[in-house]
Amino acid sequence: MKTNLFAIVLLMTLTACAVSPTGRKQLAFMPESQMVSMGLQSFEQIKQDTPHVKDVAINKYVQCVADAITRLPEVQQSSRDWEVVVFDEETVNAFALPGGRIGVYKGLLLVATTPDQLAAVMGHEVGHVLADHGNERVSQNMAVGQSLALLGNWMSANNTAYREQAMSLLGLGSKFGVLMPFGRLHESEADEIGQTLMAKAGFDPRQSVTLWQNMGKGGGKAPPEFLSTHPSHDTRIGKLESGMGAAMNHYNAVTNKAQCKAPEI
Ligand SMILES: [Zn+2]
Repeated sequence: MKTNLFAIVLLMTLTACAVSPTGRKQLAFMPESQMVSMGLQSFEQIKQDTPHVKDVAINKYVQCVADAITRLPEVQQSSRDWEVVVFDEETVNAFALPGGRIGVYKGLLLVATTPDQLAAVMGHEVGHVLADHGNERVSQNMAVGQSLALLGNWMSANNTAYREQAMSLLGLGSKFGVLMPFGRLHESEADEIGQTLMAKAGFDPRQSVTLWQNMGKGGGKAPPEFLSTHPSHDTRIGKLESGMGAAMNHYNAVTNKAQCKAPEI
């Protein structure tokens, strides 16, 4: 364990100075390949455990919106191979994972009722991936684990307890992208990135505000990560409005906008 700890601390020191797409310094020391395999494995698991929507029109529609976003150069840079699956559950939720995977739950389509609103959610979720938020969260948790272990007496006698702590952090890490809501900073950053992505993909960024207003009215069985208490819808909408000028410039510059038609649900 001593050697492992040394290797991890070294890795943290060497690679801790990552920078997110918005220019924020972040602690993200997990190797990219590790995050990708966590993402792909989690997605396969969810695909096995959750029924898929069979309706061709719904799949075609969600794919159309996803294609417009995932073909953007900055999204391709993260992964060249994006897959989107529509899950047949009423929950109002969606997620994106490292390795290029997007999951949309059918219930979301009842709240995000237009292509532009669906693009706002997808842009937000892909924003989490582009900004490496999963990596940052795993890294932060490991860093906390490390410092607790260093402060404790694990070196002398308590190796088993330390190992258990480290393993649970790693084990939890594989599920973070799906189960744990992101914090305020990550949510705001994903909003900002998502707003730019949707506009560059040719979706009306003003609809992001409408989306969060719809979200505020509630709906669905389970609270999605974007209904978590932070940031508040008002804060969120305020920030989106302050970025609207730049987003509209991107949107207006797209001459060949995707024609995705929302089916009856
Ligand atoms: Zn989010």
